[in-house]
Amino acid sequence: MSKIRVYELAKLLGKSNKELLDILIDLGVDVKSHMSSIDNDIAQLVEESLRGASGTEGPGKKEEERSVIKTDSYEVSKGSTVKAVAQLIGISPAEAVKCLISAGLMVPADSPVDEKSLKVLQDAYNVVLTMACEDDAENEGADGTCTVIKRPRFHGDHMEPRPPIVTVMGHVDHGKTTLLDFIRKTNITAREAGGITQHIGASTVMHEGKEIVFLDTPGHEAFTSMRARGAQATDIAILVVAADDGVMPQTREAINHAKAAGVPIIVAINKVDKPAAKPDRVRQQLSDVGLAPEEWGGNTIMVEVSAKSGQGMPQLLEMILLVAEIEELKADPTVKPRGVVVEAKLDKGKGPVATVLVQEGTLCKGDILLFDSACGKIRAMIDSEGKMIDCAGPSTPVEILGLATVPQPGEVFTSVENERIARDALSSREQDLRNAQQGGPRKLSLEDLYSQL
Ligand code: GDP
Ligand code: MG
Repeated sequence: MSKIRVYELAKLLGKSNKELLDILIDLGVDVKSHMSSIDNDIAQLVEESLRGASGTEGPGKKEEERSVIKTDSYEVSKGSTVKAVAQLIGISPAEAVKCLISAGLMVPADSPVDEKSLKVLQDAYNVVLTMACEDDAENEGADGTCTVIKRPRFHGDHMEPRPPIVTVMGHVDHGKTTLLDFIRKTNITAREAGGITQHIGASTVMHEGKEIVFLDTPGHEAFTSMRARGAQATDIAILVVAADDGVMPQTREAINHAKAAGVPIIVAINKVDKPAAKPDRVRQQLSDVGLAPEEWGGNTIMVEVSAKSGQGMPQLLEMILLVAEIEELKADPTVKPRGVVVEAKLDKGKGPVATVLVQEGTLCKGDILLFDSACGKIRAMIDSEGKMIDCAGPSTPVEILGLATVPQPGEVFTSVENERIARDALSSREQDLRNAQQGGPRKLSLEDLYSQL
């Protein structure tokens, strides 16, 4: 009798793995996880029972929950024209002007909006419009008008699903770079457009319509520097093990880092195209260090791949999405932006540039950021496909320009009201650090430094 895996059936039926597991358990089927196999006739039974029950609960309720979140709210920078605001809320400039006239306000389409006219438009079109950035000369376009930045207003309490952030780990020469290159090459849309994408240290790739974010920083480095600062940027670790070499010292180290951080591991048994490949030997060695493969009744997902030929790569990406779904990764795009530095350097032409990962909230051009050791105002933002963007939500890697100094990888940041607050916070941190150094009899360890930043 043919069988089907729980996650495959879930996908076919448009259910989450968790929903489907609940249904199966209710039906008395013996299933352990999304990887469990069930007979096809049971699958059919589930499908029929779902068809019978459709429309009674579930979907309807979800729709309702979602509609509450739907109120659009925008921040409008000072000096934005009526025309720009009209565009933002999806009406014609003429309609906006008419609306203002009917409220007794004579404002031409090319004039800047004031608080009063914003309020009129807000009430008429059922959106939330707020005026932002007092001193924003930098947001001015060439014609002297300000750009309108579309961002959710800070209100919080709007958790939304976010893409998983993945780090690739493993022993040297086992194929980490080749694997990342293959995934990027085949899944980044901008490449197809012919542009040579600039490399920012992280990339967002698409698989089956869903986004996955890959960090380029080798896993163990990212883990240690970020964890020392109390930040964690990784949701899933891909452990690359070469099938012709097996578990090596850095493989074990990587496992320990991921375990200490509580990050789920997916094993990519790589180089299976090689004649000397022994994937089962790798499974055995991993079982011996506490990672038993699911196909042997354990809990670790293992996928045989060749980063060179691409064999097994779609399955690996599918497993990443599967684990991400089980983890139920969520973030709130409407809270104050917060995130972590992935890479940073001083560029001769551009000055300090930092690739950051937004973890909560929505980061926008013009925001003032305070890092552990640096601060500055975002002058421009570039996404992993090299496009200039105005705003970036949770799980988006972006390169930012405009900082005064270069922050360190692993530093966290938040946005603050103005540059004075940022500078004051930095100088008081520096003072604390100096005091501690003078007072302390022993030399400070790196850990001490981090804890004081
Ligand atoms: P890293 O040190 O983990 O980043 O490993 P690299 O990606 O630099 O790969 C080390 C070597 O293994 C390179 O010569 C790659 O071409 C080769 N390699 C990587 N993946 C595969 C694979 O799937 N099959 C084969 N045959 N060679 C591979
Ligand atoms: Mg490498």
